Amino acid sequence: MSSGFQKCHTLMITGANRGLGLQMVKALVNSSHCPRKVIATTRDKSRAKVSGMVCSDNVVSIGYFRLAYAINQDSIEQASKEVESLLGDEGLNCLINNAGINISGTLETVEAEQMMKNYETNAVSPLMITKAFLPLLRKAAKQGTGMGIHRAAVVNVSSLLGSIELNWGPGAEFKTYPYRASKAALNMLTRCVAVDLTPEGILCMAVHPGWVQTDMGGPDALLSKEESINGVLSVIGSLSEKNNGGFLDYTGKTLPW
Ligand code: NDP
Repeated sequence: MSSGFQKCHTLMITGANRGLGLQMVKALVNSSHCPRKVIATTRDKSRAKVSGMVCSDNVVSIGYFRLAYAINQDSIEQASKEVESLLGDEGLNCLINNAGINISGTLETVEAEQMMKNYETNAVSPLMITKAFLPLLRKAAKQGTGMGIHRAAVVNVSSLLGSIELNWGPGAEFKTYPYRASKAALNMLTRCVAVDLTPEGILCMAVHPGWVQTDMGGPDALLSKEESINGVLSVIGSLSEKNNGGFLDYTGKTLPW
C-alpha cells in the first residue's frame, strides 16, 4: 500500500459490508499505514456482522447508511451528522464511493425502472453523498496543501464498462444498458465535481478496480479481491494533482472516458 496513507487520518468507504468495500477495510486495518479513523458504511448493520466486518480501535462502523438517495436523503444527512460528531475538527481526508449495483439489460429486455434504479444507486447516490460530506472534506482541505488523500479526496469506484470510448469492437460485448449508462454518468459527475472542487484543493477521480471475484463480478472474474484492492489502494495512496478529474484502473493506467 502506498505511503500516501501515512498522512490520511480519516477515511470513509460506502458499501463496506462485503465485496470490494469490505476488502478495502480489511486491507487498511491490516496495513501499517491505517488511517486513524476508517468509517465503514453499510445500509444495514446486521449485514456487517454477517460478513464479519473487522472491528478494531481504528474502525468505526456507523451502519444504517441507505444509499437509495431519492427515497432516503434523510439517512444520508443523518449519517453525515454521525460522522461529523466522530471526526470533529479533523474533517474527512478521503471519501470512497464504492457501493453499487449491476443491473443487466439488453436493448430487447431493458426496462425504464431498471435504468432508473441503476442510475439512482450508482450515479445519483455518490453525488448526494459527496454533497452531504462536503463540509467535512472542506474542513480537511483547509488544513493541508497540495492534492491527494493527505488533504481531501473523493474517489468514485467506477468501471471500465462506463467508458464510452471503450464500448466499441471487443469492448462492446457486455450489453448491460443500465449498468454501463450509470457508470458513464458517474464518470461525468466525477469530472463535474473535480471542476468545482479544484479551487478548494479537493481532488476527485474515478477508479476501475478490474474484473473481480465478488458477488457482482462472479467466480470467473480475473482478479481476486486481494489483487484488486492492493492495486486500488496503491493508486488511491499515490493520488496527486495530476490525477485530479482522472479515470485510472487498479494498476494506475489512465482509461479513456
Ligand atoms: P458487491 O455486489 O459484492 O457489493 C456491493 C456493495 O454495495 C454491498 O456492500 C452492497 O450492500 C452495497 N450496495 C449496493 N446497493 C446499495 C444501496 N442501494 N444502498 C447501500 N448499499 C448498497 O459488489 P463489488 O464489491 O464487486 O463492487 C463494488 C464496486 O465496484 C461497485 O461500485 C461496482 O460497480 C464496482 N466494480 C466492480 C467490479 C467487479 O468485477 N466486481 C468491476 C468494476 C467495478 P448490501 O450488502 O447491503 O447489498
